[in-house]
Amino acid sequence: MRTVNLKTAEQVEIMREAGRINARAHAAMAEAIRPGVSTAELDAIAADVLRQHGATAAFLGYPPGSPHPFPATICASVNDELVHGIPSRERLLKDGDIISIDCGTVYRGFVGDSAWTYAVGTIKPAVQRLLDVTEEALWVGIRASRAGKLTSDVAKAVQQYVESHGYSVAREYTGHGVGSQMHEEPQVPNWWPRRAAAYGWRATPLTAGMTFALEPMVIAGRPDLRVADDHWTVVTRDGSLCAHFEHTIAVTDGEPLILTAL
Ligand code: MG
Ligand code: MG
Repeated sequence: MRTVNLKTAEQVEIMREAGRINARAHAAMAEAIRPGVSTAELDAIAADVLRQHGATAAFLGYPPGSPHPFPATICASVNDELVHGIPSRERLLKDGDIISIDCGTVYRGFVGDSAWTYAVGTIKPAVQRLLDVTEEALWVGIRASRAGKLTSDVAKAVQQYVESHGYSVAREYTGHGVGSQMHEEPQVPNWWPRRAAAYGWRATPLTAGMTFALEPMVIAGRPDLRVADDHWTVVTRDGSLCAHFEHTIAVTDGEPLILTAL
């Protein structure tokens, strides 16, 4: 039986603090993004913000015991890289690139997890549209995250919104419960198969006190992905661009609470 750790109001407040620090790291990186900046420089900026607030990086060394633990504070994924890109001094951003930055903060034993895709310099209108649709898919998911609904309602709302704009959602990677652990129950997918039960998929009812990360990952082309030789970077097989927006939220008796906003 999968158990969901419901959070007390006090725990949600601590998660809000962790989320706010995470948002500050994003804001500092957003300021620094420009052509010529390396993804390692952005990683150092995020690491500094976390340190200044007495927080630690949730991704660094993850997962414990792995032969290839993640080596950085942020995931920095450029253009056709969807998620889990490893920051590098050699990877310099160019005008017209897009960069998806995912950052996770641990503060007082709780995690804040959020991601954003940023434009580097001037991007084409078609690329801006991909970013706009992906960000709006996140808001669609947040608005659907109300007590009494199911994780499948959220998943279907996100999928329907994305596909109505001619894009694909990533199927192998999902939103997830967040708390004292970065990945808790429930999984919150961005799509829902037609014969979900036959695949063993079961929706989880949303209740007040649930905290999870919603993270639509949207691909301009086909949804097929592969993992690069570095064991981490997930790229689109057809080379198409992709975007990723994520907030950690809390389900309440009313409006969902966004925990990773400034
Ligand atoms: Mg994340
Ligand atoms: Mg996440």
